[in-house]
Amino acid sequence: MKQGFIVLISGPSGVGKGTLINSLLADKSLNLTFSVSMTTRKPRPNEKHGVHYFFVSHETFLENIERNNFLEHAQFVGNRYGTPRDYVYTLLNKGKNVLVEIEVDGACQLLNSVPKDQVLSLYIMPPTVEDLIKRLRHRGSEDEATIMQRAERFKEEVKYKDLYQWTIINDDLQTCIDEVKALIRGKINS
Ligand code: ADP
Ligand code: 5GP
Repeated sequence: MKQGFIVLISGPSGVGKGTLINSLLADKSLNLTFSVSMTTRKPRPNEKHGVHYFFVSHETFLENIERNNFLEHAQFVGNRYGTPRDYVYTLLNKGKNVLVEIEVDGACQLLNSVPKDQVLSLYIMPPTVEDLIKRLRHRGSEDEATIMQRAERFKEEVKYKDLYQWTIINDDLQTCIDEVKALIRGKINS
């Protein structure tokens, strides 16, 4: 059986990654499975353990680092996030394409450890920082201080966008979804 590939998606918090990813996962022709990360962040009201993240204590997270269980891991605005290695490889070996949504530090680690032809990497941008802040406020899941921290983090992160094969601006949502789907289909057919 042909091994799947990784669709690596990064972009600032609030840019619309979750919204985009829901559309991608709903399209069965893309053969995508979401890689569920481990995090020390507290769940948001709509989030479920094992579906959106594996929510764990700092202690459990550190144990997983020691056991080398992560394909990559990083800190983001006071919390830790990591991609479980076995979870991803089990899916790839079953022929699934695996959607990995992570920040830039982790993306660098992943791009350095996985063969280039096994990854399609995309950086999703907002039209402006102001749009990003507006979207975060509209989502209403973070307080104002966290929103500003996340917007600041974006100004740092965006410097690394050239590490990715593609930069996509999420201005009109449907256009962004169509562009990303076309890139995934292109990779499937390559
Ligand atoms: P992320 O997963 O990147 O943190 P979300 O998918 O939660 O972002 O989106 C943040 C907010 O922005 C949500 O309220 C979502 O409905 C909204 N949003 C997503 N894409 C767009 C877009 N193209 N234009 C306007 N609002 C958007
Ligand atoms: P959030 O707290 O909004 O869910 O995610 C915050 C940031 O962490 C986002 O940029 C998201 O892409 C990133 N992230 C989520 N899971 C992982 C992971 O497993 N590894 C890394 N490095 N970043 C992650």
